[in-house]
Amino acid sequence: MGSSTTEIEKMADNQLIKLQSLLLYLNDYSSFYQKMFRDNNIDINSITSLRDLENIPFTCKDDLAKYNDDFLCVDKKQVADFVTTSGTLSDPVTFYLTAKDIDRLAENEAQALKCAGGSSDDIYQLMTTIDKRFMAGLAYQAGILKMGAGIVRTGPGAPFLQWESIQRFSPTVLIAIPSFIPKLIDYAIENGINYKNTSIKSIVCIGEPIRNEDFESNELGKRILSLWDVKLLSTYASTEMGAAFTECTAGKGGHLNPDLLILEVVDEKGNAVKNGELGEVVVSTLGVEGMPLLRYKTGDLCHVDYDQCGCGRNTTRLGPVIGRKQQMIKFKGTTIFPPAIFDVLDMIPEIDLYQVEISKNEFGNDHITVVLPNHLDSKAFHKKVKALYKSKLRVTPDLRYIDQEDLNKQVFKQEKRKPEKLVYV
Ligand SMILES: [Zn+2]
Repeated sequence: MGSSTTEIEKMADNQLIKLQSLLLYLNDYSSFYQKMFRDNNIDINSITSLRDLENIPFTCKDDLAKYNDDFLCVDKKQVADFVTTSGTLSDPVTFYLTAKDIDRLAENEAQALKCAGGSSDDIYQLMTTIDKRFMAGLAYQAGILKMGAGIVRTGPGAPFLQWESIQRFSPTVLIAIPSFIPKLIDYAIENGINYKNTSIKSIVCIGEPIRNEDFESNELGKRILSLWDVKLLSTYASTEMGAAFTECTAGKGGHLNPDLLILEVVDEKGNAVKNGELGEVVVSTLGVEGMPLLRYKTGDLCHVDYDQCGCGRNTTRLGPVIGRKQQMIKFKGTTIFPPAIFDVLDMIPEIDLYQVEISKNEFGNDHITVVLPNHLDSKAFHKKVKALYKSKLRVTPDLRYIDQEDLNKQVFKQEKRKPEKLVYV
């Protein structure tokens, strides 16, 4: 107990030093924050504790979109890599990375993968895109190099290449979008590949949750684990944070890296939520050179846990992303988030491809349609899906069936980095 208290105090002291240098840096180089400090009469020298952060206004997604280049703190000649956010709901925002920022990403990912049980002995098969202006692929590559492990860059899709690489190079960990894994297993079954007996020990799951808020596997997680004896580890990150919250092997939420981020989890009014409660994730990025952010509201809603983890670490943990604030759906008087809609579909073994369409009706209410391949179109199936929604979410979306190939093209678009399971029409 005594030693952990000292450790927590040390972490906080270290964060405060880094916060103060962030404030000085923004005051010197960020036109956005210079203006914000001026407009709000903020004297950065008055920030003498982490709690004093509360005196500074939040930065939100709109600010980034509207004043994108005002956040840039270096000359454009110093930019080493140009990345963009995925922009599901809006135009993508540019993030400018300097060489030092790429090194910070590498440090973050090396730490994160170690937290997930990895070591220099591991070989990672990277099943995410490394181009398309995507930060994560770059971060994984740099991080794996930094930790002294090996990497096989297969990229997304291409199940033949994935299995051939697994057999040829014996990777130990897959880094993948979890909804692709059932497809990968289907391919193995159809082609007589002995997928149950491979070198793969674990899968680092990016982009989608694999657990419910109680940390039990969600339907997608259960589906994968029922087919394959591997360990699933969740990681949550975003371009804006330039850092990841990655699970340790205890699987009780993603750990904060206190050297790279100051985390706040806040309620609707912007006040910090209590231990265990749900709130919006707010980050201040530490050690970023190109586009550092102060009190940035991510829109992501997570439960926060300040207790010591079973693994012995004292760093704050975040539970799975319950939803994005901007993706909150008001449906017939109920509030739901897309992951809950996906979870019901993942419960149905016949479904391995779907897209959820959100539209507004003439009264401004959200309307949900689930698009499915037409070979599933039968009265009995229709009834089964509707009944399951009714019991799980108390709402029943519309169902529409289209050609499997067309649906496949709609979900797995060439120019996109992730499958488009959700669209706004
Ligand atoms: Zn832990």
